[in-house]
Amino acid sequence: MNLKEKLTTFKKQLPPTVQLVAVSKTQPAEVIIEAYQTGQRQFGENKVQELLSKYEQLPRDIEWHLIGHLQTNKVKYIAPFVNLIQSVDSLKLLQEIDKQAKKNERMINCLLQIYIAKEETKFGLSFEEALKLVNSDEFNQLKNSQVIGLMGMASNTENQQQIRSEFHSLKIFLEQIQATHPFISTLSMGMSSDYKIAIEEGSTLIRVGSTLFGERKPIIQSQQQ
Ligand SMILES: *Cc1c(COP(=O)(O)O)cnc(C)c1O
Repeated sequence: MNLKEKLTTFKKQLPPTVQLVAVSKTQPAEVIIEAYQTGQRQFGENKVQELLSKYEQLPRDIEWHLIGHLQTNKVKYIAPFVNLIQSVDSLKLLQEIDKQAKKNERMINCLLQIYIAKEETKFGLSFEEALKLVNSDEFNQLKNSQVIGLMGMASNTENQQQIRSEFHSLKIFLEQIQATHPFISTLSMGMSSDYKIAIEEGSTLIRVGSTLFGERKPIIQSQQQ
């Protein structure tokens, strides 16, 4: 199957409640255009530099999601156009997003990235930290940014039961937070290896790369985000 067939088939199996963000990191613009031609509009990138250069080359009606760690000093580069920042992991970052959104006279939607994996390498807030954040005065004062949901990554493991229980814990936490913050309703969880479990556990937004585009070539990790 070529990319267009793969993408079309993939989308058909998704429940109507689940949105697909095609994770296009490391893929060249031509490949993204091919996906775009099937009607796909939501794309996810994990590096600011790469996101910026693709935004400049590609159609303006693409909805760009930032899914990777974001440094405060880089918010200004993506603030004019980013559709959803999925990786907010501190109040300080959220305040900077709010400030840059105001400068651009727009509203920026965000997800709080929650740490659910049993691994030390992943970014994110604990449940406790996230609760504290959304209940703070500073959070209430934000005007140009809005937290509309949560994002989480499960452990990179073969243990399906563990993955399921990590996703489940995030769904339960979302329900808890929603009781007082009803607009926090998006649940971004699931990637190529675990999106089926994520959907069963209540995901409303999946982030899928390699299943659609093929395995990424290993890239040399640079310091640039
Ligand atoms: C790369 C990435 C994905 C997609 O991973 P695949 O295994 O290629 O589907 C999803 N979420 C985040 C945060 C990523 O960095």
